[in-house]
Amino acid sequence: MAQSAALLTRLVASTVPIATKAGQIVRDVMSRGELNIVDKGKNDFQTEADRSAQRCIISSLNKQFPEITIISEEEKSNCEVPSDWIITDMDQEVLNLSLPPHLENVDLKDLCVWVDPLDGTAEYTQGLVEHVTVLVGIAVGDKAIGGVIHQPYFKNPDTGSWGRTIWGIEGVGVGGFTPTPPPKGKRIITTTRSHSDSTVEAALNALEPDEILKVGGAGHKVMLLLDGKAHAYVFASGGSKKWDTCAPEAVLHAVGGTLTDMHGDRYSYNPKISYPNKRGVLATAPGEQHSWYLTRIPDDIKQRLV
Ligand code: AMP
Ligand code: MG
Ligand code: MG
Repeated sequence: MAQSAALLTRLVASTVPIATKAGQIVRDVMSRGELNIVDKGKNDFQTEADRSAQRCIISSLNKQFPEITIISEEEKSNCEVPSDWIITDMDQEVLNLSLPPHLENVDLKDLCVWVDPLDGTAEYTQGLVEHVTVLVGIAVGDKAIGGVIHQPYFKNPDTGSWGRTIWGIEGVGVGGFTPTPPPKGKRIITTTRSHSDSTVEAALNALEPDEILKVGGAGHKVMLLLDGKAHAYVFASGGSKKWDTCAPEAVLHAVGGTLTDMHGDRYSYNPKISYPNKRGVLATAPGEQHSWYLTRIPDDIKQRLV
């Protein structure tokens, strides 16, 4: 059965338990309390959790898809990976999906996997652990098509256990959660809490929000859109990277939302592209009018994001 499924379904099906394991590693590092923080640049950190989660994700994907192109946030290391970090299970629900014809015969050379092993590191180091996600995005050609978002610190209300893994494939659907529309008659905007500047603030002001939710992580902010907690994610800055937006964009588009740059264009995720999302990020929940936000952003702000 597994081998007869399409490459893209096998890849997403494998990524679901891999991201879940990476989330367990993120929690384990925090429990041990040995974060070993490395300063990568201005307001840009890496911890033992970022490094270990990445080793788990890359080793597991390489084991099952040896030739696949993977671009990940942290520098690669040659350290041996504990055998229980190599995950080869597949999510059965994903494996049973049918793909639209244009995705059925996608070849390995058309795929690029974008990995952010821990999105929201600044918040993780400050104890705001519910802002953290593990992000694995799958691009087919230029487009973000598949995404897995794992929230290590989501507490399951039924079982009390930690962790939630959601997946989405554009044109196919989503799983692992039930999307909720944001409240009508209000405009709640989510944005950065640790990478703001005057342009970021000016864009928010131009949109006259009823409420602003300043939280960490691109993954967490898109989850707020999917869970009906915010209408839009607005970040008029070139600070985020392709591994921050690939998985969230794919999942958001799979439920009818939209993620573009501040000019309204979708980013390209082919492996040759430069990493920074220089033209900013504008994401809207399903049912929101994306074009309304685009027209309200002043031209002088757009001109700063080129
Ligand atoms: P934030 O909304 O600030 O949590 O940012 C979302 C993602 O983009 C996180 O992975 C951040 O690390 C990254 N990011 C945003 N702005 C910057 C920046 N100025 N420098 C480095 N990383 C950034
Ligand atoms: Mg990130
Ligand atoms: Mg990261």
